Amino acid sequence: RKGTAVITGASSGLGLATAKALAETGKWHVIMACRDFLKASRAAKAAGMDKDSFTIVHLDLASLDSVRQFVKNVRQLEMPIDVVVCNAAVYQPTAKDPSYTADGFEMSVGVNHLGHFLLARELLSDLQSSDYPSKRLIIVGSITGNTNTLAGNVPPKANLGDLRGLAGGLNGIGSSVMIDGGEFDGAKAYKDSKVCNMLTMQEFHRRYHEETGVTFASLYPGCIATTGLFREHIPLFRLLFPPFQKYITKGYVSEEEAGKRLAQVVSDPSLTKSGVYWSWNKNSASFENQLSEEASDSDKAKKLWEISEKLVGLA
Ligand code: NDP
Repeated sequence: RKGTAVITGASSGLGLATAKALAETGKWHVIMACRDFLKASRAAKAAGMDKDSFTIVHLDLASLDSVRQFVKNVRQLEMPIDVVVCNAAVYQPTAKDPSYTADGFEMSVGVNHLGHFLLARELLSDLQSSDYPSKRLIIVGSITGNTNTLAGNVPPKANLGDLRGLAGGLNGIGSSVMIDGGEFDGAKAYKDSKVCNMLTMQEFHRRYHEETGVTFASLYPGCIATTGLFREHIPLFRLLFPPFQKYITKGYVSEEEAGKRLAQVVSDPSLTKSGVYWSWNKNSASFENQLSEEASDSDKAKKLWEISEKLVGLA
């Protein structure tokens, strides 16, 4: 049978390119988990995806109710769930003030981490009950959260501190909107959320890999300087960023190539190792990359897990 992969944020950028790459193999059915149904359906059509190769199911990660409803809806499809890809993200580098999810969390961490945390926890039992030979849960990471790299050292750097802001609910009322308790900074909030993504993947691995046989993985697909992720950046940045990445840092990767990379993490028989953060070298060969000290801190991962559980109503 075909494999079924849920991909969040499949309406643009990396998620769409991955959905297309998987659908084209003829071996995958993609559940496009998107907040804008019309945009997703237009995007799939424009990408040339066969209409039988995907199903769009509404998911707004900025609302925990929507996440729970998505889980119900996707179960009603009565398709097995073999792979889940947590890909969607918001990035608000120029925002002066924070914005909030329906549950009152600062938006970047609320969507990129907390929404996905609840989704992944809920769908773990579905993955476990699938009879697919290689079941995987993938959370897209980033180099920018990794302070052991050049890109990760561009200020403001990611830093979760002692998680006091997160523990307080990131709501800007009784607590800070930033995980470390500091002042709002949209670029830092994004990087922090990516550290959370990478820590969450590893904590899943430690808690559930042996018991469930599910492969847990994260990745840095390369710098995809053309995606909508940079839509809120200043125009000059948007103009100069792609050529800068192409010719100066040479970290540039096209959406199509990045989609193929993530599709490998979904389906390649050689990428079944769990607990790995995948990256690709100049020749587009995958390798197991090292995470920064903070992004591989198991005590922090455990604490993050426990606080996140409370915030999303699982504990
Ligand atoms: P895009 O902005 O193109 O795609 C982001 C996707 O997330 C869109 O489909 C968007 O939906 C969706 N999304 C945003 N908010 C929500 C929400 N509340 N609920 C549901 N979906 C939502 O960015 P990319 O493709 O670049 O980013 C994809 C992933 O790749 C992210 O995890 C990002 O951190 C990661 N990444 C990107 C890099 C890059 O260079 N671009 C580098 C490293 C990692 P909509 O279409 O409706 O806006």
